[in-house]
Amino acid sequence: MSPIPADTQALMERRARVLGPAYRLFYETPLHPVRGEGAWLYDADGTRYLDAYNNVASVGHCHPHVVEAIARQAGVLNTHTRYLHEGVLDYAERLLATMPPELAHAMFTCTGSEANDLAMRIARSHTKADGLIVTRFAYHGVTSAIAVASPSLGKFVQLGDNVRTVPAPDSYRIAPAQMGAVFASGVREAIADLKAHGMRPAALMVDTVFSSDGIFTDPPGFMAEAVDAVREAGGLFIADEVQAGLGRSGDSFWGFQRHGVLPDMVTMGKPLGAGHPLAGLAVQPEVLAAFGRECRYFNTFGGNPVSMAAGMAVLDVIEREGLVASAQRVGNYLRGRITELAGRHALIGDVRGAGLFTGVELVTDRAAKTPATAQTVRIVNGLRERGVLLSATGEHANTLKIRPPMVFTETHADLLVDTLDTALAAL
Ligand code: PMP
Repeated sequence: MSPIPADTQALMERRARVLGPAYRLFYETPLHPVRGEGAWLYDADGTRYLDAYNNVASVGHCHPHVVEAIARQAGVLNTHTRYLHEGVLDYAERLLATMPPELAHAMFTCTGSEANDLAMRIARSHTKADGLIVTRFAYHGVTSAIAVASPSLGKFVQLGDNVRTVPAPDSYRIAPAQMGAVFASGVREAIADLKAHGMRPAALMVDTVFSSDGIFTDPPGFMAEAVDAVREAGGLFIADEVQAGLGRSGDSFWGFQRHGVLPDMVTMGKPLGAGHPLAGLAVQPEVLAAFGRECRYFNTFGGNPVSMAAGMAVLDVIEREGLVASAQRVGNYLRGRITELAGRHALIGDVRGAGLFTGVELVTDRAAKTPATAQTVRIVNGLRERGVLLSATGEHANTLKIRPPMVFTETHADLLVDTLDTALAAL
């Protein structure tokens, strides 16, 4: 590792002084980007980095069409959902049109955490139950109700009394034909345990690519049996699409569609506004009915005209630039090339994913599938030193998480793979 430059060190110290101790930076030598364009970030010295990590910049950093839409609406009006405005209706209709017709209402928030928090309030109203089932290393957000259902925050954030975790559907360790049954049996055990403690499930909430658990996308369809199990017990199925959604998985617009399941609610966030804070949920009307009767919902910034303009512009770009099809094509190309690398580097145990969401699990022993946690940290930092940005995920932080802006091309993929090859060789 090269020494941390003095100006970076000064910024880190200032940050710690002002923001306090709860924030964490990426990388041993933190990055200080000052400008972004497409799939590139530029640091204060003008050095460029290939961004293979930021799904928030879904249609690329600072896409001119999105920037222009935000600026134009900001120059006309920005209010909120207690006034009539076409913007929120136009966007809601267009977003809902990407989903099965049963998901007929949309509600807007500013963050994915708020969307999940609201989804749980709606689930409780509808089911009159309280239990929440999530995967063992899930991340769903930061509100009090949702942080206690986000075990990946670490052992100091205790799970809620109403929360049960189930093993993630680990496609590297479970045979494809068994995936559905194994995942569902975890859900049934969780339901039984809730019952033993006098509770019923309000919902099963899953990130449909299991991104914090280690990225498990295949075989398509493995989710169905678990969804049936929670419904049999009176609970709802909430698809958290904050990571998977908006075309990233390539073969469908939403992650749940790959699995052929119909959620009661779909929560969304990160990529919707391509950097502008825009999130929300889609819900089946009969599921929302009780909450709507009992309660009003107003989120000051959720659904404001500027956010709606940003969301519209992002959908324009995805359509015009054919980004769903290219996510599929480039993602397959990328995984194909990394799989070739596995022939030369024994550390690569598994290459998996869908569209532009790829996991590369690193192991010290392929037969035993032993997590190569220490090596993974070195690879992530080695890539950063060589100008490629990505991160690691999973309970053992031994799976490279590759999740670039959707404008990522085969040329970008080649650069990533060649740099990964060099970083692996340098270990
Ligand atoms: N759900 C998932 C699957 C996420 O990955 C995240 C954010 N990493 C959230 C919810 C929370 O979103 P936000 O940070 O916008 O609150």
